[in-house]
Amino acid sequence: MYIIQIASECAPVIKAGGLGDVVYGLSREIETRGHAVEIILPMYDCMRYDHVWGMHDAYKDLWVPWQGGAIHCSVFCGWVHGRQCFFIQPHSGDNFFNRGYYYGALDDHMRFAFFSKAAMEFMLVSGKRPDVIHCHDWQTGLVPVLLAEIYRWHGMGNQRVCYTIHNFKHQGIAGADVLWCLGLNNESYYFQYDRLRDNFNPFAINFMKGGIVYSNYVNTVSPHHAWEARYGDFGYGLGHTLEIHNSKFGGILNGIDYDVWNPQVDRYIPYSYTPIHLEGKAENKKALRERLLLKDDNKPIVCYIGRLDDQKGVHLVHHAMYYALGKHSQFVLLGSATEPSINTWFSHEKQFLNNNPDCHLELGFNEELSHLIYAGADIIVVPSNYEPCGLTQMIGLKYGAVPVVRGVGGLINTVFDYDYDQYHSPEERNGFVFFQTDQAALESALGRAIDLWYHQPDQFEQLRVQGMESDYSWNLPGEQYMKVYDFIRHK
Ligand code: ADP
Repeated sequence: MYIIQIASECAPVIKAGGLGDVVYGLSREIETRGHAVEIILPMYDCMRYDHVWGMHDAYKDLWVPWQGGAIHCSVFCGWVHGRQCFFIQPHSGDNFFNRGYYYGALDDHMRFAFFSKAAMEFMLVSGKRPDVIHCHDWQTGLVPVLLAEIYRWHGMGNQRVCYTIHNFKHQGIAGADVLWCLGLNNESYYFQYDRLRDNFNPFAINFMKGGIVYSNYVNTVSPHHAWEARYGDFGYGLGHTLEIHNSKFGGILNGIDYDVWNPQVDRYIPYSYTPIHLEGKAENKKALRERLLLKDDNKPIVCYIGRLDDQKGVHLVHHAMYYALGKHSQFVLLGSATEPSINTWFSHEKQFLNNNPDCHLELGFNEELSHLIYAGADIIVVPSNYEPCGLTQMIGLKYGAVPVVRGVGGLINTVFDYDYDQYHSPEERNGFVFFQTDQAALESALGRAIDLWYHQPDQFEQLRVQGMESDYSWNLPGEQYMKVYDFIRHK
């Protein structure tokens, strides 16, 4: 089978969060199964060019219809750790991808509407006719719309689309001007409720809704979050649309690429280790302390790695920090905030705790350091308000950092409470779970984890090893995506 992924991220060359990991890991898994995969991405000025090999011109004169005229683009091809990627570089005064960041511009809807159109145009003129186009999140929600409404009539009638939603909160809301830019000229047609019209704002179109309505299959990234999105609040207004398209909607848990995230082969950590030979874990803990100038003491290290925003439960992250310090533990945080108020808040905390030998806050995005923290930490906290899948708890498991998570979304599909889980045997349990969003709830779970570390170290080690041995590779999710691809191809 021939699959093209269209996305706004692919790790490690373009990574703002889990989406990048998933696009890379899934593509690799599908290729390992003997299928051809290509990835189409924007060419951002700030991407990690040092992770691209053999970059060369792939298509020099791509003219992408836009705003009644056309924008001239170049397409480059290169390999990102073995995956073949095509990078689209527009040459226009809009400077769509030369902003020094991936997301957060006022015209993001225009930037990614243009990217979706450019990706379709590139496939059309370069003769690429994949069996399946797999697109991700709001940024590429318009791809299936463009395919069905325009490109199908130009020789792309056999392509099928799988659309994966990694985060319902960001949906791509825009006015009618985007339709005009894209050449989708019949405004009243697209503004019908069963097409692109936003479910709550009658004067706006919704990219993600378009993705749901027009794709052949839609999924989010865990079975539990699929339920939450359809029946709870976490569909952020798209629950009714999902209900209407129920028959083509499901949840497939993300996997972890164990060639990248594996303490046995990780190039970014000084000592390798496995569940059987755990000595390296203690050495990495020492190395982490040396790197972050933490005191070498007989204490557990609790960590948090992730974006600092409301979704991730920042108030509980903040509380976990002081609670852990109060329980004679060390705390390491690696996170970046896009919201200025949260950034200022944590910058103040960093200054305040600067001389504390048990605590380190690293504000910013640092892929290399994240590996060392996973390898050095004993416990990882993930107190999210909502979490479609969550990768950090799965990576933590593989690195022997026992997860303490809130029981939502994918977290509940992957972490099973040491004391209270009713559905898994004691041998399958791997962490600690709490449910409410208050501080007492977090304390109940984090407190149990720290107490186990201090008072029953053998049991803690056993729990750590059980986590390291659980399988969250791409093996099973890869099989499920292949079934989806097969199914829609023959529909
Ligand atoms: P998200 O909602 O951000 O996609 P996930 O848990 O699905 O959250 O994925 C987060 C990914 O991003 C993980 O690979 C994690 O290690 C990485 N990550 C998050 N924040 C940082 C950071 N500040 N520095 C380095 N890596 C980070």
